[in-house]
Amino acid sequence: MQSLLTDAIAQSAVINDLIRRLAQTDTFAYVELTASPEVPTARTKLVTAVAGARFVRIALNMLLSRWDRLPLLAHELQHAVEVAEDRDVTSPADLRVLYRRVGIQTGADRYDSIAARRAGYDVLREEATNRRHSTREASAMGSLTESAE
Ligand SMILES: [Zn+2]
Repeated sequence: MQSLLTDAIAQSAVINDLIRRLAQTDTFAYVELTASPEVPTARTKLVTAVAGARFVRIALNMLLSRWDRLPLLAHELQHAVEVAEDRDVTSPADLRVLYRRVGIQTGADRYDSIAARRAGYDVLREEATNRRHSTREASAMGSLTESAE
C-alpha cells in the first residue's frame, strides 16, 4: 500500500493535485487494497463524520494490474474530493443527494461522476507519457553502455 501511494505521488501530477485539494478540507481518506468480491475494481465510501472531521475509505481491488491502480486511485480520490468539498455531506443519505446532483446513476444505489472518470483518463494519459519517457531513457542508457564497450 505504501508503495502504491509512493508511486502515485512520484508519478502523477493529477494525484498530487487531488491529495492537495483533499488536504485543504476536513476529510481524511484511507486507502486500502482489498480482496473482497464486493469491490471488483474500486470504491469510495463515507465511513463516518464527527465534529470537524469526515472519513472516507477508498478500496482498490488487490488483483488490479499495476497500470490500472493509479487511474482508479485518481478516480476514487476525485470522489473523495467531491465529498470533501461539500460540507453538507455527513451521511450515506447526504452522499446520495450529492450524487443525484453532480453524478450519474450507474446502478441500484450506485453513482459515478464525469469528473472522476476524467481524473482516471488523465492519469492513464500521464502513465502513457511516463512510459514513453522511460523507454527513451532506457534506450539512451543502452547506447551509452554500447559506446563504453
Ligand atoms: Zn466512480
